[in-house]
Amino acid sequence: MSVLRADAPGKTNVCLYLGPTRSDGRHELVTVMQSLTVADAITLGPAPAGAAQDEVQCPGVEGENLALSALRAFRAATGWDAPPRRLTIDKRVPVAAGMGGGSGDAAAALRLAQADSGLGDLALLYELAAALGADVPAQVQPGRVLATGAGEVLEPLGPPEPYGVLILPSRHALSTADVYREADRIGVARSAEELEAILKDIQEFAGDLPDALIHNDLEAAARSLLPEIGQALVEAVGAGADRAFVSGSGPTVVGLFSVVEEAQAAAQALAGRDPAPIVATPVGPGAGQVT
Ligand code: ATP
Repeated sequence: MSVLRADAPGKTNVCLYLGPTRSDGRHELVTVMQSLTVADAITLGPAPAGAAQDEVQCPGVEGENLALSALRAFRAATGWDAPPRRLTIDKRVPVAAGMGGGSGDAAAALRLAQADSGLGDLALLYELAAALGADVPAQVQPGRVLATGAGEVLEPLGPPEPYGVLILPSRHALSTADVYREADRIGVARSAEELEAILKDIQEFAGDLPDALIHNDLEAAARSLLPEIGQALVEAVGAGADRAFVSGSGPTVVGLFSVVEEAQAAAQALAGRDPAPIVATPVGPGAGQVT
């Protein structure tokens, strides 16, 4: 039995616009998600002799692991009854940071289970992903994706121009649920009409967004919960970023550079920072392939 390997790319939301709350309690939203070269490295192989069930090793993440839940869900849906497997996750994507790390790991675990078992198809992976979490389906095929509805309606977009992404992680974590609650409290949601108009604008640019559309409605909520995010935004702009914003629900700050080398130079200039900056570039679907 061989060991299979896949990357689980992190993502940032190049834009995220929040609309009204639906009857199921989730917000309508319009977001363009972009997978990045910063990725967790995941393997799926045999569990050690004597193991009674599937297991996960994921240093740095305590408690229930979404990737193990994905593997269990895959077995339940397909009836795959191969001997216990071990998932190992080398975390490189900052945790609880608005970069979709857990969601990306879960999606990668589904790809690995499918490759290992030879069972299921892409449609099943999307179905299982949706049951695991709102941000998981977009990571089944990493790349650049327009997500609407409450994030479950996905439209793959073409590959973006290469650009540099300076990632400034935070020492603190933010829970996505807390950030949405704070967004409700301070009232950042837009009307359905406004959201519709924004979606039309985004579609016109096929996701290659002009500066005016690069925006995150969750930024105000994340900053309200963790004011020191403001300092990271100043650092990113001070290091030369064309645009700087909070990634997803935060607290990670991302700076965009039209020239990749300039993002690398900015990271060098901020090398003494704790946590250290990370430089990434956008990736397409091939980035998550199982080998
Ligand atoms: P998202 O952008 O998907 O809403 P996030 O990037 O803000 O999420 P994650 O890194 O996915 O946050 O972590 C959120 C929580 O999920 C963590 O605090 C952790 O307890 C839990 N978790 C479960 N499995 C994983 C995993 N494989 N990697 C990271 N976190 C995980």
